Amino acid sequence: MNTWDVIVVGGGAAGLMAAGEAAGAGARTLLLEKMPRPGRKLRITGKGRCNVTNVAERDAFLDHFGKSGPFLRQAFARCFSDDVMAFLESIGVPLVTERGGRVFPESGKAQDVVDAMVSWAKRQGVVTHVRQTVDGMILESGGVRGVRVNGETLLAGCVVLATGGASYPGTGSTGDGYRLAAAAGHDIVPPRPALVPLEVTESFVRGLAGLSLRNIRMSVFVNGCCCDEQFGELAFMEYGVSGPVVLTASGAIVDALRAKQSVEIEIDLKPALSEEKLNARLLRDFAERGREPMHSVLRGLLPKQLVKVCLTAVGIPGKRLASGVTGDQRKRLLSWLKAMRLTIQGYRPIKEAIVTAGGVSTQEIDPRTMASTRVEGLYIAGELLDVHADTGGYNLQAAFSTGWLAGRSAAALAI
Ligand SMILES: Cc1cc2nc3c(=O)[nH]c(=O)nc-3n(C[C@H](O)[C@H](O)[C@H](O)COP(=O)(O)OP(=O)(O)OC[C@H]3O[C@@H](n4cnc5c(N)ncnc54)[C@H](O)[C@@H]3O)c2cc1C
Repeated sequence: MNTWDVIVVGGGAAGLMAAGEAAGAGARTLLLEKMPRPGRKLRITGKGRCNVTNVAERDAFLDHFGKSGPFLRQAFARCFSDDVMAFLESIGVPLVTERGGRVFPESGKAQDVVDAMVSWAKRQGVVTHVRQTVDGMILESGGVRGVRVNGETLLAGCVVLATGGASYPGTGSTGDGYRLAAAAGHDIVPPRPALVPLEVTESFVRGLAGLSLRNIRMSVFVNGCCCDEQFGELAFMEYGVSGPVVLTASGAIVDALRAKQSVEIEIDLKPALSEEKLNARLLRDFAERGREPMHSVLRGLLPKQLVKVCLTAVGIPGKRLASGVTGDQRKRLLSWLKAMRLTIQGYRPIKEAIVTAGGVSTQEIDPRTMASTRVEGLYIAGELLDVHADTGGYNLQAAFSTGWLAGRSAAALAI
C-alpha cells in the first residue's frame, strides 16, 4: 500500500497550492520542503509586498508569457486571477489593486500570504515535513512510485514536482527539479536568467549606483534595430542597470546576447517633451539663466548625479555660463537628453535573476492536467516548467494556476 496518495516536492507558491488542493480533494498529501519553512521565496516577492497576480484580462495576461502563453491557456481557464484573488481573500488576505493592475495584500506584507497559505494547507489536511531535500524519484515500469529523501524512500501514488527555478538559491530554489525531471527522462530547456539586471560597458555608470530614474523611455537596439520600448523606472547599479524597464526587457536581451548579437539601450530622459519642445525649453533656460554656470542650470533638468556625466558626455565645461553655450553644444545636449546610449555587455547570473527561463519542456506536459507525458503519476508545476513572464504578478499567477491544476489532477488519479 502507498504511504501517501500524493507527495508534493517544494513548498513554494505552486507546491503549497498543489498540496492544499490535493488534500482538499481527499488525497493523503505530504508536502516536502527543503528549507526550515515553506514559502521562503514568496516572502521576498514584490519587495516584501508580494504582487500576487494582475487583473489584466486573459488574452493580455497570456501575452506577458510570450511563446509559453498558449501552454497556460487551459490552466488559466480553470484557475485564473479572479479565482486566486477570491481564494486569498477567503483565507484571510484582503487585497488591493494598484497601478498597472497589480494586486497586493492590503497589509503590504508578503508574509501574510505565506502564513495564510501555510495555515490553509494544514487545515486542508496537508502534512508538511520541512528540512527534507528530495534527491531522487522512485521510478518503475514507466511510472513514479515515490521519492527519496535524506536516504529514506517515501512511497506515493502520485508526485508533484514544484521545486521552482534556480534564481535566488538562498530561498531554497537551487534547480534540483531540473536534475530530478531529467533523471525521469524529461527534456530540460537550458535554464537561463530572465528578469535580470544588465551589465553595461560605460564605466561612468559606476558613479551612478543607487540613482533611480522615473518616467523614462528605454528603447532596445539589437544589431542596430529597435526591437523593444519600455516606459517607467530604471535604476543604476555598480555594474550596470536594473529596475522595472530593464527587467521587463531583459529576457529578449539575454537571448540576443547569447546569440552573440550587439545590444544597446537608449534612454530618453524627457519622454514627455518632443525634441522641439525640449529645444525651446533649453533656449528659454539659457536665456533666463545666462549668467549661471551650466552645472547649475542643468540641475533644473537632471538629478545631481547625472549633471557631471552629462556635461562630460556632451563636452560642455561645468563652469561655462549658459549664455556661452554654442548651438552645436546645445544640439549635443538635446540629443543626449533624448537618447543617452549605453552598450549592454552582459547580464547578471541566474542567482540574481527574478525568474529562471527554461526548465521542463512544456512539450512533455499535458496542459489540461500538468501531468508528465513521460512518467505516469508525475505532475510538474510552477517555475520549474519552461514558462516565465514579465513583472506584474504574472509569474506567481502561473505558479498558483499550475499548482492548483497539478494538485487536483494528482489527487484525481491517486484516489
Ligand atoms: C526577489 C523576487 C521577487 C519576486 N516578486 C514577484 C512578484 O511580486 N510577483 C510575481 O508574480 N512573481 C515574483 N517573483 C517570481 C516568483 O516568486 C516565482 O516565479 C514563484 O515563486 C515560483 O513559484 P514556485 O512555487 O514554482 O517556486 P519557488 O517559490 O521557488 O518554490 C520552490 C520551493 O521548492 C523547494 N525545493 C527546491 N528543491 C527542493 C528539493 N530538492 N526538495 C524539497 N524542496 C525543494 C524550495 O526550497 C522552495 O521552497 C519574484 C522572484 C524573486 C526572486
